[in-house]
Parts: sequence; structure tokens; C-alpha cells
Amino acid sequence: MSAEIAFEVRQTWTNHLGNQRIDPLRTYQPASIAEVSAIIREAERDHATVRAVGSGHSWSDVALTRGFLLKTDKLAHPAATEPDFLATEWEGRHLVRPEAGIRIKELNTYLDGQGLALSNMGGYDHQTIAGVISTSTHGSGITFGPLGDFVRSLDIVAAGGAVYRVEPAHGPTDRAAYEAHHGNARTLVQDDDWFNAVAVGMGCMGVICTVMLEVEPKYYLREVREFHTWEKVKGDLIDGEVLRANRHYEVLFSPYELKHRYPCLVTTRNYTTNPSHKPLDKRTRNWAVELASAFPLTPDILNLIVGLKPNLSPRMMESAIRALIKKEYDEVSYRVLNIGAANLLPAYSSEIGVPMDGRHVEAAEAIIRVAAEARGVGDVYQSSPISFRFVKASNAYMSMMQGRDTMMIELIQLSRADGGYELNAAYEEALARLGGRPHWGQVNTLTAREGLLETMYPRYADWLRVHNRLNASGVFNSPFTERVGISAPPFTP
Ligand SMILES: Cc1cc2nc3c(=O)[nH]c(=O)nc-3n(C[C@H](O)[C@H](O)[C@H](O)COP(=O)(O)OP(=O)(O)OC[C@H]3O[C@@H](n4cnc5c(N)ncnc54)[C@H](O)[C@@H]3O)c2cc1C
Repeated sequence: MSAEIAFEVRQTWTNHLGNQRIDPLRTYQPASIAEVSAIIREAERDHATVRAVGSGHSWSDVALTRGFLLKTDKLAHPAATEPDFLATEWEGRHLVRPEAGIRIKELNTYLDGQGLALSNMGGYDHQTIAGVISTSTHGSGITFGPLGDFVRSLDIVAAGGAVYRVEPAHGPTDRAAYEAHHGNARTLVQDDDWFNAVAVGMGCMGVICTVMLEVEPKYYLREVREFHTWEKVKGDLIDGEVLRANRHYEVLFSPYELKHRYPCLVTTRNYTTNPSHKPLDKRTRNWAVELASAFPLTPDILNLIVGLKPNLSPRMMESAIRALIKKEYDEVSYRVLNIGAANLLPAYSSEIGVPMDGRHVEAAEAIIRVAAEARGVGDVYQSSPISFRFVKASNAYMSMMQGRDTMMIELIQLSRADGGYELNAAYEEALARLGGRPHWGQVNTLTAREGLLETMYPRYADWLRVHNRLNASGVFNSPFTERVGISAPPFTP
């Protein structure tokens, strides 16, 4: 097999920011399910491990492997050639099956051409669809779960090179048609337990090759960004109506008190009509801010300032929040959901999900406390506004939103701000006491401490049962699975 599928040896891989780096044994770029299956079998014969990577937009070590790294950019067609074998009761729904390595950006363009759109997305579009599903990437809007919740079916290659199509119990595939076509070569699993386990797999369940998503007809959104203080936002969150009344609601927050007690930028996004007839300034964000952020030297200037004068951070944050205020920005949904040039800043983040049962409000107060302590003890400052996003409870066993509506708290740090990693670890610890669950794709300090994952994730044992089948040989173990203690016993007969 290896003679047919080309690979590079010891090619250094780094993630998008460059804070994760590794020299895997081999790097492959498979172009079909058959190739993925053959590579996994080859790895097992060689006692090597395998990990698929998407676009490397995780700040955590979740995508690292010392074994065979599978780049998925040749598995990126918007319409997979794998047939759906759609059951009749699913006909007429808005379903698409892209290959798993497609980036959200290209998927959006394809959907737009079909008159369709994702119902929700994260704040950025350079990640791959398999990458975002695997870490439970999310946007904001309390009626939407994480992106994985739009998945209806997926094709995954597991240990032994076995190919599975995994769906909920009443999934979209017509079993008779699927089995008539594939015979014993592939297995269709229509089972809620399997589906909820595979839904957030952090690369540990196998290599996802196609993903069927349910989408909706193309739509437009109006974004409104207003300045408030934490006192007002806190009241609104306790009341909850702002979350129900808006399709999307999110907050940028500064934990420092200057002129105002904890300035906040509140963003809402709601349906609107096609704005193509409107003047340009109604169809763009604050163009001066976007332009400045996109200017090549801006990130370096910001980094330089926080490096030299960290105590300017509170003022910079309040200014940043004010600069983003805008009464009306109307555009096609996926442009409005993408937060724009802020994604280009040299920054990393940790993100912690806390339950929306009152602890979400306590969490904001805990952040204010931790930020004040870090400033007092070590002159360490939060270097970027903190984001609060709101996500519906998910059934996926290892989603940060599993079983509970969640406020996701994103703790963004400019890459050269002193003490940023330590400050994020202190937030993570404080929020863990409030039921916090760290985002798998963002910087976190989870360890294999006895019972930690079981306590954090009530369905962990159910996830592990499926994991131990799909990763029976340990071929999907990695530095990440060792760190958090979910490695399967490697290569036992
Ligand atoms: C600028 C920026 C903005 C971001 N915005 C958000 C946001 O708004 N909301 C949010 O929740 N997160 C956000 N993130 C985090 C990001 O969405 C996640 O870390 C996501 O997992 C990255 O996707 P990726 O395609 O880069 O995957 P990678 O980082 O390459 O991989 C992530 C995981 O997916 C696995 N994986 C990838 N492809 C496959 C496959 N084919 N089969 C099986 N496993 C696979 C990898 O093994 C790894 O475990 C952001 C990150 C950045 C850098």
C-alpha cells in the first residue's frame, strides 16, 4: 500500500498561530476513503498512530500526532461522491454532504450558490467542517447548539481501517439501499449512543471523511452593536429575555473599571431582507476599524504596546469596545456571523463553558476577581476583551454544551502579552468551580487527574465505550489523549 500512497517523512507541522509544533513520522494527503483506510491499516502494522488534521486552527494540542498525520485538504469537495441513499421520509429537507476537509468559507460559497446557508457558525470561517465538529465549535444564539448539532450523518474510518456511516436511530440513510451497495465492506450504524459519541470525537474516534449537514434557505442578518455596562448586561442575562428575543446575542466584556464599571459591547443579529439596495455604510461594519485591523502592522503594534506597557490594556480594551459600536450592518448571514478582521490578530484563547443556571452571572464576577488579583500580584493584564456567547444544550456526549444551555466565555490574549497563559489558567481554575468545561480546541490545562473527565462530562463512560470500539487498537492515541487520560491501551492483540 505505502508504495501507492505518497507521504512526506518528518515534515514539521505547526498550527495556524505557531504555538503548537510537532514532527510526525509521516504526513499523508489522502484523497479518498479507501486511501484513509489503507493508511490506518499500514499504521497499525507499523505500530504507529494516526491523526487527521483540519486547518490547524486549534490553539490546544488536540491536533498533534507523533505518528502519521493526515492532512485533509484533498478531501474537501463540497459535494462528496459518496451516495446518500436517502430514506424517503428525509426527502425534501435541505441536506448537503460535503467532504470533511472542506473549510467553512468554501462551504458557505457553495451553499450560497445553491440558495442555502448554515443556520449558524462560529465567528470565523477558515476551519474545516470536520475540525469544527470534532471540538464542538460553536457560535452564539441560545436556540442553536454547536455546529455538530447540524450533522445528520457522517462517514468515518476507524481502527482496522473499518468504514462506518454513523447516524442517529432514525437517520437519513435507507439501510436496504446502503447494504445492497456496500455489502459487508462498510457498516451503517443508526444508533443514538454511537452518534452522540462520535459527534465530538477530538480526532480520537477515527478519520471523518464526509459529513451530512442540515442547512436552511439563504438568509440575511442585521447586526447591531451597542455600548452597555456590566450592570445592565447582568440584569438582562438574569432576566433572559434578550436571549430569547434575538436570533443571536453576544457580549464583549472588559473586566476593568475605568470611566465605566466593566464596559460591554452587546451584539445582536436578527433576520432582515436583502440589503443590496442600501448604501455601503449600512452593508459594512465600522470600516475604519476593519481596515486598521487588516493593516499588516496593526497586530505588531498592538503586541508591542501590550508588551511594553501592559497597564494600558484596560484603556485599549475600552477603546476597542467603543470603536466597534454600530447601529446597522446588514449582509448575507455568513458574512455577518463571521466577526471579521479581529480573527487576524496574533492572539490565542481559552474558552470555558459554564451552565446558564445563575452560575454564568457568577462566572463574570469571578473573572473580574481573577483579573484584579493578577493585576495586583504580578502586574499581569487581560490583553483583549472577553467574549460571552450563548449556546443551546447539546446531546453530544463530549460537547462543552452537553446537557445544559451554556455561556461560553472566551478569554482572548494577544500573543505577546506577558502572563497570558498563566492568567487563562487562573480563570480556568476559578470557572471549574462553577462547573466550567474548557473548549477542546482552545488552550486548556486539563490533565489525566483521576475522575476529572467523569465529573465534568456525565456521559463520558458512554463516549468511552464507543471510543474503545472505534479506537480498539489505540491507533488514534496522541499527545493530547495522553495528557487528558483517554488513550486506549496501545496495540494490544
Ligand atoms: C481565529 C480563530 C477563530 C476561532 N473561532 C471560534 C469560534 O468562533 N467558536 C469556537 O467554538 N471555536 C473557535 N475557534 C476554535 C476552532 O474552531 C477549533 O479549534 C476547531 O476545531 C479548528 O478546526 P480546524 O479545521 O482548524 O481543525 P484542527 O485544529 O486541525 O483539528 C481540531 C481537531 O479536529 C480533529 N480533526 C480534524 N479533521 C478531522 C477529520 N477529518 N476526522 C477526524 N478528526 C479530525 C483533529 O484531530 C483535532 O482533534 C477559533 C480558532 C481560531 C484560530
